[in-house]
Amino acid sequence: MTASGARLLEGGAIAEEIRTAVAEDVSTFSATRGRAPGLRVVIVGRDAPSTVYLERILRGCAKVGIDAGFVELEGEATEALVTDALRALNADATVDGVIVQMPLPPTIRLRAVVDAIDPAKDIDGIHPLNAGLLRLGYDGFLPATAHAAVEILRRSGIEIEGRDAVVIGRSAVVGMPAAFLLVREDATVTVCHSRTRDLAGHVRRAEIVVVAAGVPGLVTGAMLRPGAVVVDVGINLVDGRIVGDVDFESARAVASAITPVPGGVGPLTNALLLTHLIRAAERQWPLQSPVAVPAIDRP
Ligand code: NAD
Repeated sequence: MTASGARLLEGGAIAEEIRTAVAEDVSTFSATRGRAPGLRVVIVGRDAPSTVYLERILRGCAKVGIDAGFVELEGEATEALVTDALRALNADATVDGVIVQMPLPPTIRLRAVVDAIDPAKDIDGIHPLNAGLLRLGYDGFLPATAHAAVEILRRSGIEIEGRDAVVIGRSAVVGMPAAFLLVREDATVTVCHSRTRDLAGHVRRAEIVVVAAGVPGLVTGAMLRPGAVVVDVGINLVDGRIVGDVDFESARAVASAITPVPGGVGPLTNALLLTHLIRAAERQWPLQSPVAVPAIDRP
């Protein structure tokens, strides 16, 4: 902890460590399978934020040797066009992982799109199979942002086991998977959402607070229990600046550790996606295992 308050949990250095490890795995994959692992991002109707996101992903992939590209559909694309594009990627043996840029236009049903992704290539964990595996405590692909929110705690040496955690937000892509992951790490978890009564009362009891609501300034220092650990997942544009869901200055004076926005969960999210991709590639294209020696029949 510094004189001015909480320890800063920054994602950049952790992301760099992860990328170095991924680069090694990618180079082994490429050498043994004769091609680089492949990622495709499906974008329906490009806007400014999705362009920034896409460029960041493509740059991150290029740095570690992943063959990344995108499939761009016009904003007025139909549901069938999107699901056809996904089926083509599912069938493409050079594509190991697929991400669909969210949000989709309102005319396209999320459920139809999610169902069309091959769960083996679903590296952002949005297919119901992967969501179900997480719910049951098995290994599947995790939504990268939720994964990052918990991984930043683990890699910063923050104790999770047995602690009281509050997750604010219950979305299928961030809040709920973050809550399930915290349970898996043996925290006692309360999920708060837009209809929660007395949010401040829940937050005050929490030793770990994960905020994923999309509401700038939702959590302030006055709501926190002294010494709480705060993970701010929010990304909001306010007066041309990116801010989280936590009022950073007041929170850092009370918390023992806090993730900054930008520079906290965000960089880790992108690095973890790369780990998901190489895992997807290795699982779909395992190295030939040694020929099994047939068992000797005994009478
Ligand atoms: P969402 O809109 O789908 O869900 C928001 C959730 O917050 C809902 O469950 C809602 O009930 C809850 N909520 C809203 N207002 C609330 C309030 N006043 N009090 C309590 N709960 C409230 O959003 P999402 O997709 O889950 O994303 C959440 C935030 O995370 C957004 O700011 C988004 O930009 C950000 N995000 C960050 C990353 C990253 O890499 N860091 C990635 C994806 C999303």
